[in-house]
Amino acid sequence: MNLFEQLGLDEPILKAISDMGFETPSEIQQKAIPTLLANGADMVALAQTGTGKTAAFGFPLLQLIDTDSKLTQGLILSPTRELCLQIADDLKGFGKYIDGLHVVAVYGGASIITQIHELKHGAQIIVATPGRLIDLMERGVVKLENVRNVVLDEADEMLNMGFSDSINTIFEAVPADRNTLLF
Ligand code: AMP
Repeated sequence: MNLFEQLGLDEPILKAISDMGFETPSEIQQKAIPTLLANGADMVALAQTGTGKTAAFGFPLLQLIDTDSKLTQGLILSPTRELCLQIADDLKGFGKYIDGLHVVAVYGGASIITQIHELKHGAQIIVATPGRLIDLMERGVVKLENVRNVVLDEADEMLNMGFSDSINTIFEAVPADRNTLLF
């Protein structure tokens, strides 16, 4: 049995993992994936970049998405546009064999109209910088009441950059019983 399968991951994610040539789950993946798949845990994970943290939260988040629904179910916040795009690209790659999956990145410094168009097609997972997300929430384009998992990637950096008020505003819009994952 494949080591990733032992952690509870199913086809089609296993197929993407095989394409990427990953053979062994990293330490943070071994710890985080089974816990997140079991659903219903808040988590603080300390890991440097390069340790496979995006897959550690990304694989389970993707597997938990109900693709029969277009509602937003997973939210990832990141401090910068570059990281936001990187995470969204990674998730699209991990989820390339999941039919009907839509991952959308929203961030400042780019056309909001284009992002609104993308969101209107449905986005089960949104990867966002805080300011642009709030703008889209205020325009009624983003609805977060069905979000099950919120990931704060580089949470320490977001707080250093003064995003704590924005993060509070966003957290008021997600269900109280969602899981919060700090990486
Ligand atoms: P990250 O820490 O998420 O920035 O990932 C660092 C790099 O490691 C990325 O290029 C991933 O594609 C790669 N990676 C993640 N998990 C694994 C794994 N289990 N085996 C090999 N490479 C991996």
